Amino acid sequence: MTIYWERCDFCGQHRPVKKCSIVPDISVDIHCCVSCPLWMDRCKTPAWKVEAPLMASATRRRALSSEEKERLLKELTSLLKEG
Ligand SMILES: [Zn+2]
Repeated sequence: MTIYWERCDFCGQHRPVKKCSIVPDISVDIHCCVSCPLWMDRCKTPAWKVEAPLMASATRRRALSSEEKERLLKELTSLLKEG
């Protein structure tokens, strides 16, 4: 599905939008689509489904710094010694 960078008809902000599947005249961004009361309820095929890759990138953790790695390693080592 094509994503356009246009004005969202709900909030008026310029964001990546898709055509609303219930009212095709309307362009909607992901935030307004997901917050729509019909989303995934009466609207079975919303323009913005929360897709797995999108969720994955949103929840992906940042890389650990070397200090954090060192601290974790020390914690793990001490736990192993105690055990
Ligand atoms: Zn919007």
